Amino acid sequence: SSSRIAGLGTTIFAEMSALAARTGAVNLGQGFPDTDGPDDVVDRAVQALRGGRNQYAPGTGVPELRSAIAAHQQRFYGLAVDPDTEVAVTTGATEAVAAALLGLVDPGDEVIALEPYYDSYVAVLQMSGAVRRPVTLRAPDFRLPIDELRAAVTPRTTAILLNTPHNPTGSVLRRDELEAVAAIAIEHDLVVITDEVYEHLTFDGLPHIPIATLPGMAERTLTISSAGKTFSFTGWKIGWATGPAPLVRAMLGAKQFLTYTSGSPLQPAIAHALGADDAYFTDLSTRLQSQRDLLSDGLRQVGFEVFVPEGTYFVTTDIRPLGFEDGLDFCRRLPDRVGVAAIPHQVFYDPATPADGPDNPGRPLVRWAFCKRPEVLREAVDRLGALV
Ligand code: PMP
Ligand code: GLN
Repeated sequence: SSSRIAGLGTTIFAEMSALAARTGAVNLGQGFPDTDGPDDVVDRAVQALRGGRNQYAPGTGVPELRSAIAAHQQRFYGLAVDPDTEVAVTTGATEAVAAALLGLVDPGDEVIALEPYYDSYVAVLQMSGAVRRPVTLRAPDFRLPIDELRAAVTPRTTAILLNTPHNPTGSVLRRDELEAVAAIAIEHDLVVITDEVYEHLTFDGLPHIPIATLPGMAERTLTISSAGKTFSFTGWKIGWATGPAPLVRAMLGAKQFLTYTSGSPLQPAIAHALGADDAYFTDLSTRLQSQRDLLSDGLRQVGFEVFVPEGTYFVTTDIRPLGFEDGLDFCRRLPDRVGVAAIPHQVFYDPATPADGPDNPGRPLVRWAFCKRPEVLREAVDRLGALV
């Protein structure tokens, strides 16, 4: 195998979901909802399947979906994007991030990314030949350390890869943090690639602020999102990128030769979904917030230290109060031990830090998904009670 994939191993999500399936564990590992999205959206997909929309969509996505994405950016954030030149549909956010890096970053360029990072970032940064410059969000509050971000910039830095709401910590970047990122990006003429797949999953009234809305940022920001989380169709893999035409074009330059296009009959259904009324979006975050609270309270009662997230599908805990130290080892044994699966933070830190080494700040941290029905979360907490 090639040096491009050397050391990447198997994604933790595949490992832990396979382990959960083999042991019959309640799977709070991989982040996917256990109920489907809206029926009317499924109906639209069926109509498209039956209605002859089964051949290649245009490489940029079907026009009605590009228009719906542009309308969504305007409606929620006041961002004006041209559906023909500033919007592109991708095979999930995963492909958008990969194609953005391949299309915008040269080998040897340095890219700053928030650590712990979503696992595909390390892989696609490596495949693109970029040099990773992690800036670490640390427990207990996982705020962005602005001085460390500033110190991470060198003459070779060309891009910042941002993620808010942040997986796995659940941190939502505040306006002042985003302003600091923007000031650094403008001062050093950096491109910002921002993964905002959890844009509609913030809690306690906290707003999601796309960095593209800050002064001077629209022209240097590629914003990435996905229908997976917003509409509970993670398996459809309909994602998108919006931003200035040159950045979208560069992303498409790589994307056209990766998948060219995908999900033709699902695209019109997501176009319909994006037009949902405001109540849909507020109900989604209200429901997830109550699931967050249910699981957070349960984990606290079991004895974990709980870091209540501001957004996303995930709550992070420190396992040391229960006498455990190594999250990877803990998660590998948990399904057999009590019948629950979770994800260790360790694997989201830079490979330069050995996952099981004492310097890995993620070593005692474990991530639990609460995008599950309340009875499933209760069952998981019941089972975890056997740990003590
Ligand atoms: N980015 C982040 C931060 C994620 O948590 C995920 C997982 N859903 C993705 C990207 C991948 O999104 P998609 O399934 O649309 O490719
Ligand atoms: N984004 C999901 C998570 O963080 C998983 C996606 C995947 O399996 N690649 O759990």
